[in-house]
Parts: sequence; C-alpha cells; structure tokens
Amino acid sequence: MKILVINAGSSSQKSCLYDLTDNHLSKHSIEPIWIADIDWTEAKHQGILTVKANGTITNDIINYDNYCQQISKILNTLIQGKTRVLKNFSEIDIVGHRIVYGGKDYSAATLITPDVKAAIASLIPLAPTHNSLNLQGIQAIEQILGKIPQVAVFDTAFHCHIPLKSAAYPIPYEWLEKGIRRYGFHGISHKYCAEKASQILNRPLTSLKLVTCHLGNGCSLAAIKNGISIDTTMGFTPLEGLMMGTRSGSIDPAILIHLIHKYDFTANQLNTMLNTKSGFQGISGISSDLRSIIQAVNEGNSRAQLAFDMYIHRLRLHLGAMLGSLGGLDTLVFTAGVGENSAIVREKTCEAFRFLGLKLDRKKNNNSPVNTDIATDDSTVRIIVIHTEEDLAIAQECWSIFNQKDLHL
Ligand code: ADP
Repeated sequence: MKILVINAGSSSQKSCLYDLTDNHLSKHSIEPIWIADIDWTEAKHQGILTVKANGTITNDIINYDNYCQQISKILNTLIQGKTRVLKNFSEIDIVGHRIVYGGKDYSAATLITPDVKAAIASLIPLAPTHNSLNLQGIQAIEQILGKIPQVAVFDTAFHCHIPLKSAAYPIPYEWLEKGIRRYGFHGISHKYCAEKASQILNRPLTSLKLVTCHLGNGCSLAAIKNGISIDTTMGFTPLEGLMMGTRSGSIDPAILIHLIHKYDFTANQLNTMLNTKSGFQGISGISSDLRSIIQAVNEGNSRAQLAFDMYIHRLRLHLGAMLGSLGGLDTLVFTAGVGENSAIVREKTCEAFRFLGLKLDRKKNNNSPVNTDIATDDSTVRIIVIHTEEDLAIAQECWSIFNQKDLHL
C-alpha cells in the first residue's frame, strides 16, 4: 500500500512515500521509498528541493509562490526523472498530513472530511502559521490527486487526555472556556517513542511510567503513564516549557508587560523575539545549533557556556516537574536531533537524578546509541535513546484507518 506523508513546517517541508505491507505495521524502522525535503532557511523566497529515491539524490531550486504549485512540483518527482518511483499518481492509496493543532476535540488520527477541514480552519486563529499551511496542503492534494482519502494526524492528539488541572492556566476561567489552555505538541513523536520504548524493553506500555525528552530545534517533555500522556512541557503554543534553539521556553509573563510599557514593544516584535531570537541563539549570540554552541564552549566562549548551562538547568527542572506528575519513573527516553546525538546533554541531564538510582552507562552513552538502553545494569530507571520517526508513525496511522473494516472510502 502506497502512503504519501506530508509534513509541513514553517521553515521546512518534508514529504515521503512509504510502501507498507501487513508485516510493516508493528515494525518501527521502515525506510520510505521516496523522500522530498524543502529547506526554506537559505532565502525567504527560494528553497532547495532535495529528493532521494532509487539510490539517487537530486537538488532543485523551488520558489516560494503558490503552495499548490510547490506541492505539484514536489509530487512530479514521484512520476518523472531519476527519482521516479510511480507510473502515475493513481498508485497512491492514501495521504497522511501532520496537523500541528487539533485542539481539544481530536484525540486520534482521523479521515479528513469537510467537518475536519472546517475544524482545522477554525483553529487557525490559535495557530496561524501551522494550521493554515496544513489546510493548504490538504487542498493542494485535492487539486493535484483528486478524490483520494486523506488523514489528519494531530501533533496535539496524544496529549488530549492530560487532566484539566494540568491543562488549565490559572487565569480567569472565561479564558479556559475560550480555548486558552495547554494542548502540548510533538505528540506524534512522544507516542512513537513510548511505543518503541515498550518494544525495546519488551514490557507492555500499560506497565510503564515514562518521560520522553524530544530535544530538537523545538524541545518538549511528556510524562506518560500506562501509555497515556498525562503531562507535557509545551502548552497553548510550542513556546512554553524548555529552552530551545531559538525559542525562550517559559519566562515570567510580566517581562512582556514590562517590554510593552517601557519599550513600546508590539505583539509582532514580542513574537519574533520569543520565537526566533531567544534560546541558544539569543543567549549565545552565536547559533541555535547545539553543535556550534559546544564548539564555542570548547573555545572558551562564556556566553555559549551560559547558554549550555541554562539549557541543561531548565531541562532538569522540567524533568523534575514531569516526575512530580508521574509519581515515579521507570524509563527515560531521549530523542530528536539533540536527544539522539548529544552524549553530553544526556549525561548532564541524568547526573541530577542519580539520587533516584538512575545511572547512565557512560561507555554506552558515548557510543552513538540508537534504539538502545544506555542505563547501567543496576540502574533503577532504564534510559533509552530512540530515533524518532514521525513520518513513519503518520504512515502507520493512515494504514490503520485505511484498513478499518467499516470505513467506506
Ligand atoms: P527539528 O526540531 O527541526 O526536527 P531536529 O530534531 O533535527 O530538529 O534537531 C536539530 C538539532 O539537533 C540541531 O539544531 C542541533 O542542535 C542538534 N544536533 C544534531 N546533530 C547533533 C550532534 N551530533 N550533536 C549535538 N547536537 C546535534
């Protein structure tokens, strides 16, 4: 079964084609047969389209014009040129979209209907960049591929069972009624990692108390009990919680009031500052990328050192908060760019929790672990590094929906 996955972000756009069979559903590492990435970070109106398929890689310039034309250009590489893997588009069975904001009503992946599209549209005021892009992606597929089943896989869905005492902000109740509450993000990754951890440990998910640390450009933690997310660090938007590459994470909200009163900051300026000029980038003044920060630390740069120390400090603090929610811990999971690749971040994070009997095996930690337990044998908590595969998780959700017996497509 051919499943196209569309994963649109504000600075990147990734698409993959999976060819799944029955045997694939329970597996957690399957390579797509075609991958197309656009990187918009180089210049605002142009991006580089990189396509990998058939053992070749092609690069092309793509213009940031009409979104439908962009998707069309990407999809044409499925049926043309060196990266051709399909005779025509009719071979695609189903399309899965990563939808960043599903609000509180979507607790699972769902077939896209006019009602689902209306719901995604109604959430645009809460997530202007992401949801409007996601909706355009759905519409583009309708235009290019015609009547094909499409599935929405929500980044917020996994967190929809978080109890109200954690989801609500302590501000006037009327705002809660208007939808100002914590939703959480990275849900596709947190869910995938929880399932993968249970597979690696050969223990049922329903028996585990886990904290999953998704540490990429965006960073969040999830406290997962019996397979259900009961708390997470991101909130109403992906700005809350941990310090990140360019995002501040949680700060005293009165700072914003001060900046408005004293320095005439506008909403847009605050938005830019907190989302793109803070975190590693803001404190170090060097980069949002941990690799550059560590290089600068090694060269004796004090601001880079401060940025690194703050990142670890805040990670430990929020991890402590997740432990408070869980009331214990069986397994700690590290994933995404930093979580999977940075031995020093894992080591420094774990150091603070040695008093709980959580012990990292330094040799295993330094040995580029992938989908591996890196705790010592006598550690009271398992520590696992997992390579997150959000696109595969989306494809697997599509498979499940496509194969539901009562589904009339
Ligand atoms: P995104 O949130 O955009 O999906 P990723 O999960 O790819 O991001 O993570 C990107 C971040 O991972 C980079 O900014 C970089 O800081 C970090 N990273 C990647 N490789 C390494 C490495 N070898 N050592 C330390 N950090 C790394």
